[in-house]
Amino acid sequence: METEEEILLKFDKTHIWHPYTSMTEPLPVYPVAGADGCFIELADGTRLVDGMSSWWCAVHGYNHPHLNRAAVGQIERFSHVMFGGLTHRPAVELARRLVDITQEGLDRVFYCDSGSVAVEVAAKMAIQYMQASGRTGRTRLATVRGGYHGDTWQAMSVCDPETGMHSFYRGALPVHYFAPRPAVAFGEEWDPSDLAAMEALLGENHERIAAVILEPVVQGAGGMWFYHPEYVRGVRELCDRYGVLMIADEIATGFMRTGTMFACDRAGVRPDIMCLGKAITGGYMSFAAVMATARVAEVISSNPPYVFMHGPTFMGNPLACAVACASLELISDPGLPARIKSIEQTLRERLAPAATLQIVRDVRVLGAIGVLELDRPVDMARVQRRCAEEGVWIRPFGRLFYIMPPYVIDDDQLARLCGAMLKIAAEMDAGEY
Ligand SMILES: *Cc1c(COP(=O)(O)O)cnc(C)c1O
Repeated sequence: METEEEILLKFDKTHIWHPYTSMTEPLPVYPVAGADGCFIELADGTRLVDGMSSWWCAVHGYNHPHLNRAAVGQIERFSHVMFGGLTHRPAVELARRLVDITQEGLDRVFYCDSGSVAVEVAAKMAIQYMQASGRTGRTRLATVRGGYHGDTWQAMSVCDPETGMHSFYRGALPVHYFAPRPAVAFGEEWDPSDLAAMEALLGENHERIAAVILEPVVQGAGGMWFYHPEYVRGVRELCDRYGVLMIADEIATGFMRTGTMFACDRAGVRPDIMCLGKAITGGYMSFAAVMATARVAEVISSNPPYVFMHGPTFMGNPLACAVACASLELISDPGLPARIKSIEQTLRERLAPAATLQIVRDVRVLGAIGVLELDRPVDMARVQRRCAEEGVWIRPFGRLFYIMPPYVIDDDQLARLCGAMLKIAAEMDAGEY
């Protein structure tokens, strides 16, 4: 007799695609029975300390009473109505909060369904802005290598051309401009020559470029690289010089992950367009917002076609907006910056010993993000299993063994995550796998 769990896994394996996986040679998946606080509970009763915040989004942990109340309260009123011709309190209250916490001047809000769609919307805004202002040749984007902006068409085309997916869609993807990855690391001494390539690129091609898009300070899924905020400031200046818009993709970095509300805040930079997602609903549902300046909104709106040409079915979903408002209340807790600082401190102390391992090329910590960059790609299935055996949920990719735990993680749980990383890295170092 097969157990219920075995039946479930068998069906999953045969019929369901998981992120970036084969349907003929799928990697193992673990069935979840529940999730609470910083724990993910598997069907066999194992409780794993969550090191991933479910890919940056579950920043308040799981099954959070405040978010639950907001969701249930909104469901009992209405979970969805179309946003064409209608509006509602959750959408308005969320917009108020977003305008309040983003840089002065980013005060026009466009709601959409996911981070990738937010990037599509931002690109459409930039290109429509240029069309509206008569600069019709500006249809391309510029960015830096090593980025990750999502899996949809335009988003994919500005991901790193090598680690991204460009080669599989050659000929079909829009072709954009790439400067090298910013080289000066966060915390190192700034060297203005780091901007030279971007400057040359924009100098030469700005008449074809609508916007520069980048993940400020922290590049996430493209390589977990932390670079100098001066680079972001420099890009802002170059954009102004060449009449190019600046799009900040804060989908991963936003809402305190790097220790400031937004990573742009570290550079004191206000982009023209900003993409928000992931943690916006505390991981309860897929939702995103694109913030724009009044100028971007007005130029688009005062020239043909006089409207911004986007409007997804689930735009402004009330349930997502209500949960997002509750999540932003928690994010605005005056004690949170100190909490992130303390997570950062603990990560620094506890991950530092990994630097002595041969296999570890670099140890990086910023805000509530801790990274071991290895000298070779990990055996994902193997490392994933070892993590589960050590009681932690961490999903490495490529040469990156990293965590970005929920902000509510306690010191013991954090110690467990770091301890497991060190132990497993040491096993890899000893050649065990
Ligand atoms: C995850 C991510 C996206 C894409 O968001 P989805 O919600 O997965 O579509 C875009 N940009 C950055 C920086 C991200 O980390």
